[in-house]
Amino acid sequence: MKVNKADIVISAVSPAQYPNTGLPEIALAGRSNVGKSSFINTLINRKGLARTSGKPGKTQTLNYYIIEDSFYFVDVPGYGYAKVSKTERAKWGQMLETYFTQREPLKAALSIVDLRHPPTEDDVQMYEFLKYHSIPVIVVATKADKIPRGKWNKHIKIVKDKLNLREEDDFVLFSSETGEGKEKAWSLIESYIKS
Ligand code: GDP
Repeated sequence: MKVNKADIVISAVSPAQYPNTGLPEIALAGRSNVGKSSFINTLINRKGLARTSGKPGKTQTLNYYIIEDSFYFVDVPGYGYAKVSKTERAKWGQMLETYFTQREPLKAALSIVDLRHPPTEDDVQMYEFLKYHSIPVIVVATKADKIPRGKWNKHIKIVKDKLNLREEDDFVLFSSETGEGKEKAWSLIESYIKS
């Protein structure tokens, strides 16, 4: 998709604020600092539309971006951030649970992980949660530029094994520095938008 139009619509704190246009939604989930904002910015060719996080995990909102007036990227607050209180964490969990289990326009979720490290328990839990609820998942292993090409396969295997990915599961090797994987990510996203 060639993107000329992209805007943030709303940082929603409650379902009442989610858009009611009925346009398809693609959610992005991942640990704070994993590279979610950079992923969005790379796909839409913008430097700073999605905020790269100065304050990791602090935003307990769903950030809606409208792309080409045709679908939304929904940036889900990063998990695995130690400094939030138990109460905040519970509230956050509740919000995600509601969104992922009840949101009708949701077509697929991108589960963003760091190619450099094995997925964390939080990554695994999130992935399993999405699968359990029959939400199509595209696993994106980002920061590929930080690993030498010759070691990509070894790292890909570690990521896939830890998440228990099957052969048919969608997987994209990605880098927001080099644009690696951008075409593949778009083509998968577009196939889910149309589904
Ligand atoms: P978010 O918290 O998940 O939205 O993460 P950000 O997109 O803000 O990225 C966190 C940090 O990782 C920033 O310093 C980014 O510049 C860096 N980063 C994100 N993606 C990549 C990537 O593909 N390659 C490299 N080298 N750095 C990245």
